[in-house]
Amino acid sequence: MTAQEGPVSYTYRCAQCRTTSPRVIDYRLVLAERDTHRARFHGGHIPDGESITARQTQSWAEAGSLERGLTVALVLVVLLVIAYKTL
Ligand SMILES: [Zn+2]
Repeated sequence: MTAQEGPVSYTYRCAQCRTTSPRVIDYRLVLAERDTHRARFHGGHIPDGESITARQTQSWAEAGSLERGLTVALVLVVLLVIAYKTL
């Protein structure tokens, strides 16, 4: 059985500022994040050690039982909070 390819997400990291962008699912968005960061914090220069990391997003079928259980528990808590607030 071969691993199915899921969606890929990206982060931009600036080693100089020691920051990592929020994860985005479109490569163009991470490039825009990089360009904005360069312009805003480095005067348009390219900071040493910057990087863009791609990560395969895990599918539900590939998730372990702990991850699935925590996800279901989180959904139930959110639903309970919504139900409680609408009473
Ligand atoms: Zn930076």
